[in-house]
Amino acid sequence: MGEVKGFLKTARKTAQYRPVCERVKDYSEVSVFPSAGHSKEQASRCMDCGTPFCHWACPIGNYIPEWNDLVFGGHWEKAFMLLDATNNFPEITGRICPAPCEYACVLGINDDPVTVRENELAIIEYAFKHGLIKPHIPKKRTGKKIALVGSGPAGLACADQLNQAGHNVVVFEKDDRIGGILRYGIPDFKLEKNILDRRSKILGKEGIKFITSVNVGADLPAQKLLKYFDVVCLATGSRVPRDLKIEGRELSGIHFAMDYLIQSNRKVLGEKIPFEKIINAKDKKVVVIGGGDTGSDCVGTAHRQGAKCVIQIELLAQPSSLRTEDFPWPRYPLILKTSTSHEEGGERRWSILTKKFVGENGWLKKLVCVKVDATCKEIPGTEFEIAADLVILALGFLHPEKKGLIVELGPELDARGNVKTDINFMTSVPKIFSCGDTHRGQSLVVWAILEGRRAAYCIDEYLMGKSSLPLL
Ligand SMILES: Cc1cc2nc3c(=O)[nH]c(=O)nc-3n(C[C@H](O)[C@H](O)[C@H](O)COP(=O)(O)OP(=O)(O)OC[C@H]3O[C@@H](n4cnc5c(N)ncnc54)[C@H](O)[C@@H]3O)c2cc1C
Ligand code: SF4
Repeated sequence: MGEVKGFLKTARKTAQYRPVCERVKDYSEVSVFPSAGHSKEQASRCMDCGTPFCHWACPIGNYIPEWNDLVFGGHWEKAFMLLDATNNFPEITGRICPAPCEYACVLGINDDPVTVRENELAIIEYAFKHGLIKPHIPKKRTGKKIALVGSGPAGLACADQLNQAGHNVVVFEKDDRIGGILRYGIPDFKLEKNILDRRSKILGKEGIKFITSVNVGADLPAQKLLKYFDVVCLATGSRVPRDLKIEGRELSGIHFAMDYLIQSNRKVLGEKIPFEKIINAKDKKVVVIGGGDTGSDCVGTAHRQGAKCVIQIELLAQPSSLRTEDFPWPRYPLILKTSTSHEEGGERRWSILTKKFVGENGWLKKLVCVKVDATCKEIPGTEFEIAADLVILALGFLHPEKKGLIVELGPELDARGNVKTDINFMTSVPKIFSCGDTHRGQSLVVWAILEGRRAAYCIDEYLMGKSSLPLL
């Protein structure tokens, strides 16, 4: 365990964020990397509580109490080896995982939980800094060929595992760079893209081949992949956005969140966006519809673009700031979460239904809204207007894009429109597997990594009759 009674001596202290006035002027990461001393001190708070619920709550089953103990003792290399055993990309989860582990920390029952996510980040960054992460090239190749379609965290985790098992893995990606939503979606102020480049270089040196700017099912017939490869795995994400089909939806100035975020990430990368396609919040009254994490990323982006004001509205009621009986410990609770983007300004409002968009000369001018009760029923007489020049729709995602790849290959879909698989991640079409958001619906990076790892185990077993890859 960490220090005996460390939790009684040391209070939880999270890493600092850069001052708001400074960080809204750029797209660099908002958090300040904690010192080794800070991480050791925080790791000392882990109680080694016998039945570690943090480990249970972490989808990939990270050995949290064990590595906390090693960090406290200064055994960083051993801590890294343990972390590396369960997580392909701790430098990503260590930055952007919502940390269900911390909500299940036993110390959190009557005190503040251990800073698990930050300790994870400290370990992996120590490993990078001290040269512990070197390309690990498999000694033997099996001769089996696997095509991974999609280079988000699910596709990359699956490719990494299968490559380490000795298979020849080719990742096809329709974007010009790999990473999926990590690359084009999640803003740089949460995850700088050099973090992805650092990892993808290692994966490339280890033998994974990346083919970018190829939309399988459009630029390249999927049937060709089936002919050439022993297995095809679909890890194409779940990107079809939920729309708000109300009066005025056709007005200029209303955009889907991903169109806005992807363009912003491309601009940060230095790309020139054609004038007629630019979505910019500068000097605009911005309304983000949808109170979730994607909406919060839009709020942070709008602040950085110099919006005049930003309002984020949500249909559901404001959640409690504390756990309620519906979400007892150790469950991941539905509580009010305030992101770093929210801390940067703007206004948040709940229980609001947007009834119509109103414009002038084809351009959006305002929203007509109404207050709703806890059952989302309109409250008579509560109609009001919000002035807006730019609306971002962040209402979640329905299912994967079907046109092209999925239509061509024809795997069975589940009731929600995601690709259905058996317990071994194989779709209804032999040789075709699926993992990540394509299979489970829009989720979290840590779940995508888990699905990628599990699918890799099943693919390896399918090809070789048995697998020595870890099942988790
Ligand atoms: C704005 C936003 C912010 C988020 N923030 C967080 C966060 O802070 N923390 C967190 O844990 N999760 C977050 N998530 C969720 C998380 O990003 C996803 O759950 C995760 O990226 C899913 O991984 P994936 O590999 O399944 O799919 P994706 O990341 O969507 O990757 C799929 C890839 O497949 C490619 N592709 C699709 N079709 C084809 C084709 N036909 N041919 C070739 N390539 C194709 C796509 O271009 C894409 O690169 C966020 C999601 C969004 C939208
Ligand atoms: S991956 Fe997420 S849930 Fe798992 S230990 Fe890291 S922060 Fe916690």
